Amino acid sequence: MKGRILVLGSSNVDFILRIPRFHSPGETITGENLITAFGGKGANQAITAKRLGADVLFLTKVGNDHYGTAYRQNLIKNGLDQRLIFKDKDLPSGMAVIELTPKGENRIIASLGANSSLNETDLKKVYLFWKDIKVFVAQLEIPLSTVKTGLKLAKEHEALTLLNPSPPVELSSSILSLIDFLVPNEVEAQILTGIKWKKDKDIRSIAKRLIEMGPKNVIITLGPKGLFFKNQGEEIWMKAYKVKAIDTTGAGDAFLGAFACALSEDRPLREALRFANGAGALATTKLGAQPSLPFRKELERFLSKMAF
Ligand code: ADP
Repeated sequence: MKGRILVLGSSNVDFILRIPRFHSPGETITGENLITAFGGKGANQAITAKRLGADVLFLTKVGNDHYGTAYRQNLIKNGLDQRLIFKDKDLPSGMAVIELTPKGENRIIASLGANSSLNETDLKKVYLFWKDIKVFVAQLEIPLSTVKTGLKLAKEHEALTLLNPSPPVELSSSILSLIDFLVPNEVEAQILTGIKWKKDKDIRSIAKRLIEMGPKNVIITLGPKGLFFKNQGEEIWMKAYKVKAIDTTGAGDAFLGAFACALSEDRPLREALRFANGAGALATTKLGAQPSLPFRKELERFLSKMAF
């Protein structure tokens, strides 16, 4: 039976500047025309799950500026319930300035804005929405104390909990033990464990260490190498689908949103991982984060084509 997903997290407006190279202090250079796009890990993950047909609620906070108004419209357009979109009356909306070079390198400056004031009171204000939650999803672009309260409330409501530890910060065992699925990428997994990945087999030690830290299951996403899953009894290494990747922004968020969607439909683990692996791959075939997040039909067509 299909269950409800609650995503708790950030909404950011991304300002993307393509520049010829990273420049030095005091130097002015000319970039291409500025691209403004809706982003933020929370919003990207919620929108993916929604596009894939899940029943999704997204709890977030925007600023008291025209970006906040535009962001609210964007979330409503994507089918998300406006009663869970809060507005901070003093702070600006969350923003990120993203510099991209022709080599594909990026440099990002994030300004948290209203995301930094999403708090425990906001979580409690929506208490009526908690009762039917089957899957809870969070990332770390909002205060850690809010994430912790969210995880606790989710467990009290017997929901499955997913944490995407991005950007990575030190996590206490009291937080890690509330997590059913910890989903870092390979860089985040190395930072969380302090273990460097030199050879492919090191990923097993990193995953083993993460499991010892408290979560029930760990999925390390490995970009074009796919994913590595581990829990107490099982290990799964799944290769990535072969696609022509043009922009990997949002791949991790598509993966998370799709995995949450599959869990909300009670799909078996391997099938849920395959669904997420496909969504991540598809997201790399289009430019930008939110425009590249896949829809259900598109993903199903892709997966059935890839099965032969
Ligand atoms: P993040 O965007 O958080 O850094 P990853 O780069 O690990 O996350 O990508 C998340 C998932 O997206 C991967 O596990 C894989 O399923 C898919 N993916 C990412 N890059 C590619 C690629 N080049 N080809 C195919 N699939 C990819």
